[in-house]
Amino acid sequence: MPDRKNTDKKRICPVSRKCGGCQLMNMTYPEQLKYKQAKVVKLLGSFHRVNEIIGMEKPFHYRNKVQAAFGRTRGGEIISGVYQSSTHNIVKTDACLIEDEKADEIIVTIRKMVKDFKLTVYDERKGTGFLRHVLVKRGFATNQIMVVLVTGTGFFPSKNNFIKELLKKHQEITTIVQNINNKFTSMVLGEKETVLYGNGYIEDVLCGCTFRISPKSFYQINPIQTEKLYGKAVEFAGLSGKERVIDAYCGIGTIGIVASKNAGEVIGCELNSDAVKDAKVNAKINNIDNIKFICADAGEFMLSMKEQGEQCDVLFMDPPRAGSDKKFLSCAVALKPERIVYISCNPETQQRDLYYLIKNGYKVKKIQPVDMFPYTAHVETVVLLIK
Ligand code: SAH
Repeated sequence: MPDRKNTDKKRICPVSRKCGGCQLMNMTYPEQLKYKQAKVVKLLGSFHRVNEIIGMEKPFHYRNKVQAAFGRTRGGEIISGVYQSSTHNIVKTDACLIEDEKADEIIVTIRKMVKDFKLTVYDERKGTGFLRHVLVKRGFATNQIMVVLVTGTGFFPSKNNFIKELLKKHQEITTIVQNINNKFTSMVLGEKETVLYGNGYIEDVLCGCTFRISPKSFYQINPIQTEKLYGKAVEFAGLSGKERVIDAYCGIGTIGIVASKNAGEVIGCELNSDAVKDAKVNAKINNIDNIKFICADAGEFMLSMKEQGEQCDVLFMDPPRAGSDKKFLSCAVALKPERIVYISCNPETQQRDLYYLIKNGYKVKKIQPVDMFPYTAHVETVVLLIK
């Protein structure tokens, strides 16, 4: 738990208690880094010495992806903001210390326009109404901005005028997408999508490579720290140019593409089909021809590799918060990689998975925490294991 002794310090965000997104709001940034370092040492310190956490120089407005829920107060006022933690009550916010400021500005504009255009907002209990969420993604390196209007119905009243007006107010927007989500669900995005303006995606640049990002594809939310994270991951992989590399849970192919320049061959694996489509395009954009991508559950993919008697030299694995499953880990061991670079956003599940890998012939050689999410309690770690 965060250090509660600091609660008497002035809170710098007026809604932090209600929002709950920034669990460490009452600590100074150096205190936050200390807290995260201690957390990683506690969970992973018995495996190896933990390097000092890599923090941010300016730990604000780092989120390149901003999501706002739309609704009405009991008095009928249209509001937008974040859900109060563990509820579906919307906390009205116009600005946020960790979100991209331009994205927040656009969301406030849209909220005003909803009123001007007499559009309705979605009512979660009744399942009626139009605007449900607005999602904004910005490429920090390219300045491309995507606005996704998530709507409860397909029909968009005064669509053309709305889009025209939004573009007039924010000329920096490069694409607008309508996503239809008419289900009773806490997922933000639905299946169906229509591009209303531009090409339906944005691009960003990381580690000298260009990446296409679609509305539904996973992309790291803090690009400044992602470059440092990937830099460490590739350094730990110790590539010489000949290796056969697997990038498991590859998203839009970022790690594999960055690593491919120093590898013989790379195979990326990812469950989300939109992300795999992006990954394939990304390989082309960057003129990389020694990489391929497979759309599959990572455990299933590893099993089929094992059954075909395949091997690999380096395995990058970057699973979601739940970590990997036994199927994945047992097959990973069977492929006999010389090095495993395990990137994780949850040291608890990483600890569990590391125990398994250690029991099966691997040794932890390096542990590097990176602060990808200042002001929140989350911490990312890159761990190098050697056979
Ligand atoms: N390495 C990428 C993505 C990491 S996030 C990057 O740095 O950007 C984890 C990714 O795992 C997400 O893209 C998610 O869609 C994917 N994923 C989740 N469960 C999976 C599974 N069972 N098999 C394969 N990929 C999965």
